[in-house]
Amino acid sequence: MKRYNGQKMLVAGLGASGVAAVRYLLSEGADVSVWDATGTPPKLAEISSKISVDNNLCGKAVNALSLKTYQTAVLSPGISLASDLAVALQVAGVEIIGDIELFARAANDADVPVIGITGSNGKSTVTTLVGEMAKAAGLNVGVGGNLGPPALDLLKPDAQLYVLELSSFQLETTSSLRCKAATILNLSQDHLDRHVTMEHYGRIKATVFNHCEHSIANRDDAAVMALSPKSATTFGIDKPAAQQYGLAETAQGLSLVRGDEVVLPQSELKIFGLHNAANALAALALADAAGIPRVASVIALKAFAGLSHRCEFVAEVAGVSYFNDSKGTNVGSTVAAINGLPAPIVWLAGGQGKGQDFSELSEPLARKGRVAILFGEDAAKIEQDIAGALPVYREVDMFAALKRAHGIAVSGDRVLLSPACASFDQFKSYVDRGEQFRAAVKAL
Ligand code: ADP
Repeated sequence: MKRYNGQKMLVAGLGASGVAAVRYLLSEGADVSVWDATGTPPKLAEISSKISVDNNLCGKAVNALSLKTYQTAVLSPGISLASDLAVALQVAGVEIIGDIELFARAANDADVPVIGITGSNGKSTVTTLVGEMAKAAGLNVGVGGNLGPPALDLLKPDAQLYVLELSSFQLETTSSLRCKAATILNLSQDHLDRHVTMEHYGRIKATVFNHCEHSIANRDDAAVMALSPKSATTFGIDKPAAQQYGLAETAQGLSLVRGDEVVLPQSELKIFGLHNAANALAALALADAAGIPRVASVIALKAFAGLSHRCEFVAEVAGVSYFNDSKGTNVGSTVAAINGLPAPIVWLAGGQGKGQDFSELSEPLARKGRVAILFGEDAAKIEQDIAGALPVYREVDMFAALKRAHGIAVSGDRVLLSPACASFDQFKSYVDRGEQFRAAVKAL
């Protein structure tokens, strides 16, 4: 018996996860309609042959949709619960869920353990690391979610473990997830344009611990600790108590440890900065909780060289090193990037600020920054928030900012693109921004 046989379901928002939801629901026997705000979303072509003309509602005005006919709507994480569509669905009494909810119901039934990773920053890094640890242990593991393949595309009969990166928008529409191990890596301001308050944002992130067997929390982050169960295992960058994860001086130098047990000297990690040591500890705690053999985890920790666009070294030009941290899309990630690199730093930033307060950047910038070169939609807001911390230049775009940086930086400086902002005012995505930055640096 197929799980959703004959059920009338609406998939709203045809991005990668929406298309995966359509494919999954059709395979489970549902009668699927699709809607997107635009008439011909790019990914529609992948599923249009399987959707009847009547069930293709793309481009229709929300008030022209007969929503009462649907039992359930699967909302893309890109569509706000406060949007006209979501409000109309609620008024019509339609159940609203997301793709992770569909995934969780299937994973629960198959009894395959799930590791869930959320937080403001470091999710992709930790998700990839845990995935590599599982692979090193020879497990048949599906790794994805917010990063990489949509969760529903990971489902397979012989899977032994799923490792999911979970965004706040995905958690907001999920209720059945039961993680074997889960973590909130950290909480800093992000997406407040949609979640409005930090309390609300934090409460959504904390749902990852509902029905979770092993909760893992960052003890250096008071907001995370306040949202975590008392029984949570903790990680942090200080010397830990028994059974907890941390950093301690050992005969081999500063090392990743669990209680008194030495796991690995930090110098054997290829990813740099204390934030990445914290990421490595979180990954280790999750892997241990899921029963991944320690030797496999250590192999993966030593091999992992980091993901593109995250404090990625691009090139050295005339003694100046250039770093691409285009994925630094909020204040917390940019603070980590500045803290992780040696001074002096020529800082390039700007874009869409998503309602953030940038003043937290003033202290690290005053300590390590030579100049700030700002561009994009919220450059003026950033300049105002960091006033007095360091000299500031304003340029029209990233390319002009890079040119200015090239003129200012002297041998031994680091030029860091870590925008603390979304890219959509001037680029297609953070990947596009990072790739264009790389190319522009190479052309210097
Ligand atoms: P996410 O998937 O949560 O966006 P990533 O691993 O892609 O996280 O990293 C996003 C950005 O955050 C990068 O700029 C990276 O350097 C920075 N970052 C990674 N881990 C942390 C951390 N633990 N704390 C703060 N910033 C981090």
